[in-house]
Amino acid sequence: MRILLVEDDPMVADGIREGLEKAGFAVDHTAAAEPAESALELIHYDLAIVDIGLPRMDGHELIRRLRRRGIEVPILILTARDGLDDRVVGLDLGADDYMVKPFQLPELLARLRALIRRSRSATTSELSAGSLRLDLARRTASARGAPLELTGREWEILQQLMLATPNVVDKQKMVESLSEWDNELTTNAVEIYISRLRNKLQGCGVEIRTIRGIGYRLDEILLA
Ligand code: CA
Repeated sequence: MRILLVEDDPMVADGIREGLEKAGFAVDHTAAAEPAESALELIHYDLAIVDIGLPRMDGHELIRRLRRRGIEVPILILTARDGLDDRVVGLDLGADDYMVKPFQLPELLARLRALIRRSRSATTSELSAGSLRLDLARRTASARGAPLELTGREWEILQQLMLATPNVVDKQKMVESLSEWDNELTTNAVEIYISRLRNKLQGCGVEIRTIRGIGYRLDEILLA
């Protein structure tokens, strides 16, 4: 899942970015509202984290402009401890949730996941195929009733495949959704993740098929 972080304090931005990446999110970061506005018009993000105190155009104005243009990305705002008005104004303008600085990373992650879940109203919090179960709320996986250990990226890829099934996930789109601005993932890397996933999914009643020239598809298979 891809997140846009709009934060002008480099220390705060680095901390958030590092934490989110460890949790398996792809993060793009901008220190000002103007490039964020363009990015959100061009790229599909699962969520945007917007600091209110930004140079030139502030976070409120950014949210106002995005919503006026009908850009529906879930937005979580970051405000200072004494910024009660900031929160109220932000929510009124169309932000979905807020965090008061300083905050603990686990709480931020929990809120992000809740927001992303809510925004995917059509999907349930659990996906299943074969004996495989994906708990989107907890970001855990199990197969044949036992926990399945996945890295953040393996989790992301599996989730994309399961959300798409029975359709094919385009390999290039997969690469893009897992890449960040300054850290382009290669198709080779995706192939490696797929190969690791295939090993982990053996005997689970599912198979990741390669669709030549297009991408991958998750199929349920009948176990003998
Ligand atoms: Ca700031």
